[in-house]
Amino acid sequence: MVLLGKLISTGTVPKIHAQLTNAKSFHSSRLKGKVAIITASTDGIGYAIAKRLGDEGASVIISSRKEDNVKKATEELRKDGINVEGLVCHVSDAEHRKRLFDFAKSKYGGIDILVSNAAVNPAVSPVLETDEKVWDKIFDVNVKCSWLLAKEVYPELVKRGGGSIVFVASIAGYQPMEPLGPYSISKTTLLGLTKAIAYEVTHENIRVNCVAPGIVATKFASAITSSDMAAEKTLSIVPMKRFGKPSEIASAVAFLVSEDASYMTGETLVVAGGTYAHL
Ligand code: NAP
Repeated sequence: MVLLGKLISTGTVPKIHAQLTNAKSFHSSRLKGKVAIITASTDGIGYAIAKRLGDEGASVIISSRKEDNVKKATEELRKDGINVEGLVCHVSDAEHRKRLFDFAKSKYGGIDILVSNAAVNPAVSPVLETDEKVWDKIFDVNVKCSWLLAKEVYPELVKRGGGSIVFVASIAGYQPMEPLGPYSISKTTLLGLTKAIAYEVTHENIRVNCVAPGIVATKFASAITSSDMAAEKTLSIVPMKRFGKPSEIASAVAFLVSEDASYMTGETLVVAGGTYAHL
């Protein structure tokens, strides 16, 4: 614990994080010829997934709510040699989602991979004290939009003769994290959504899997990672005693969408530094 506090206060943890985020491209060609849509991908885990899939040869379409973020992330990925296009897409907006899929079809001729990564957590409260509007917002973005994205991409994957969908859940989906109750439940729901859809679409050569990241030091998690005290409490449940890096989640997703995972569907891969994960 003391060592961890020291690492964080000397800035070593962010430095390690930066090194891994900026790590040299992998340039495996496992995903060559594939077209991948990653939602919520201008920052954090989604951005790292876009970069990794692009590094492995996929043409990627990134998106998020804010145009400036889309522009900046697209430019950065292009500088890294990624074949990327960026679009504004708020996942709750049906028109935005349609535009995303239409764009992928017109630009690249189809879609092979969907990574549904968007999530919100607008307020924290114990489950039974949660405001109904907060509950609805969490379930709308985290669950309903994941389902809608899968439903809408399905015919496109069928047209390609198969494909892959990955949902981004959370370690909190296994063990609700105080005080992230409703958010945790929404992520547990994704584990069920993964299994249910997977079994319905295997006959179309479509695989559906999920990744459950542990705590990753992104903007989203800053409330539980940015101060020494919060970090120490959070890391008390992590055997590796460090936060995950976005690139470490991205590599798991790249595996799941590749042929290396050809016999895997309906599964959730936990990438959480050994954190106990059992429902
Ligand atoms: P992040 O670094 O804060 O990045 C969030 C990204 O999502 C940004 O690009 C943001 O851009 C975009 N975004 C937010 N709301 C959106 C919406 N409604 N529609 C479209 N784009 C949206 O977050 P993160 O930590 O990488 O989290 C990504 C995923 O990992 C989430 O599903 C989260 O639940 C999951 N996860 C995170 C952790 C963690 O510790 N960080 C742990 C487990 C699971 P704009 O602002 O431009 O929209």
